[in-house]
Amino acid sequence: MNEHNAQTAGWNFDTSYTRLPELFYTLMAPSSVRAPSLVKLNERLASSLGLDAKALAKSDEGAAVFAGNRVPEGASPLAQAYAGHQFGHFTMLGDGRALLLGEQITPAGDRFDIQLKGSGRTPYSRRGDGRAALGPMLREYIVSEAMHALGIPTTRSLAVAATGEKIYRETELPGAVLARVAASHLRVGTFQYAAQWGAADDLQALADYAIARHYPDLPSGDGRYAALLQAVCSRQAALIAKWQLVGFIHGVMNTDNMTISGETIDYGPCAFMDSYDPATVFSSIDTHGRYAYGNQPNIAAWNLARFAETLLPLLHEEEERAIGIAEAELVRYFDVYRGEWLAGMRAKLGLFGEEEHDQALAEDLLSLMQKHHADYTNTFRALSAEGTTESGPMLFGTADFGQWRERWRARLARQEQSHEESRRLMRASNPAVIPRNHRVEEALAAAVERDDLSVMERLLATLADPYAYSPEQEEFSVVPAPSGPYRTFCGT
Ligand code: AMP
Ligand code: MG
Repeated sequence: MNEHNAQTAGWNFDTSYTRLPELFYTLMAPSSVRAPSLVKLNERLASSLGLDAKALAKSDEGAAVFAGNRVPEGASPLAQAYAGHQFGHFTMLGDGRALLLGEQITPAGDRFDIQLKGSGRTPYSRRGDGRAALGPMLREYIVSEAMHALGIPTTRSLAVAATGEKIYRETELPGAVLARVAASHLRVGTFQYAAQWGAADDLQALADYAIARHYPDLPSGDGRYAALLQAVCSRQAALIAKWQLVGFIHGVMNTDNMTISGETIDYGPCAFMDSYDPATVFSSIDTHGRYAYGNQPNIAAWNLARFAETLLPLLHEEEERAIGIAEAELVRYFDVYRGEWLAGMRAKLGLFGEEEHDQALAEDLLSLMQKHHADYTNTFRALSAEGTTESGPMLFGTADFGQWRERWRARLARQEQSHEESRRLMRASNPAVIPRNHRVEEALAAAVERDDLSVMERLLATLADPYAYSPEQEEFSVVPAPSGPYRTFCGT
């Protein structure tokens, strides 16, 4: 085993997905690329997966494997089939430019999907070229790793390999492949695919697989699938609350981009909000604000309703009863969401215990931030530093904020915990840095246009410890000069 691992850089694959019914995937190898090279390797993540980071970085092994030119021992590459509602419209999708290599079993016994994204055409590519560009793959790398460091469940980024080939979007761009690590790639859309095109057995096999992988402690027996629905709703409620609390906007919350595990997935046109405004939209094609910041909790519920619909045949043999069970779980989603959000807001404000008016206190601050165009992250950052610094955002000089601050201070004074304890709670809950768009773009421009990875490395280093409040983080918290709304694009 060890000798074998040494030869294969520590790969230790299981391929449980291939034991699902065949309609769920297509076995196939990645297409080879002309000149693979390793652009970025996540050495710490590699080590935690049981991989030999040094070997992967040094030899041509890393480049060959992560570009798709060499299939590691024990892997069984496949494209996953799935469907999904895209901006409300139901479509057959599937991995059109990605392949699951298999599931790496770590030294700790955990199981993680290793997926190559940008690895060539598959039967699900439709009109796409199966490829990805270097900039967007590095962007996913930066933002997903930042999310992880913020403590938000997310897929992670193991490596980015350049292909040495050009791809064609609006312009000619360098091609790349991202190696993505996930608890699994099961999506709401995978269940929609099963419900639409599978038999009853296929749906049940998928549900049992999801339970075994993500919710192994659910009770067996009759209420099993209702418990699955409840567990997925709870994890998503907790996830979306975390997004809202850090000002993260996913941008494309289609049902194929919502995981069963409760991890954030698919970093396309996502971004962090600068000045607070619930109507903030980043995706250039989201013209109706379907996926705007303030709409994310509702859209998640909409997606979960689509998930619940797929489970109806498993919830109860009588449809009416099944619908009743599903509806009860969806109502619970909002309760869990509101509870998680309020608990998170209390922490952001340094509040211990619970008082009746805590929610109003938090909401009133948000209203003031919106009214005065205050930066979301920096407002909480400055509140966390209160007492240690005199400087604050412009918001702090306004009369209505002054009144709010009196209420906040009175609330703090009513709790037995010290100011120091409050400040510690706030600093652990309010990031000093987030991946600001202009910083991410600057890092990508250096990497893609000038082959200079140093800007990205500095950014990654500061984002790796977002609650540090270190002096080096000061410059990364500067907000961009106003230059019209930021737009990210789907042409990734
Ligand atoms: P996304 O918007 O990244 O969630 O992708 C939606 C669907 O389009 C998925 O089925 C992707 O696999 C597919 N897709 C996106 N880009 C490409 C591409 N360049 N070639 C083939 N399929 C793609
Ligand atoms: Mg997707």
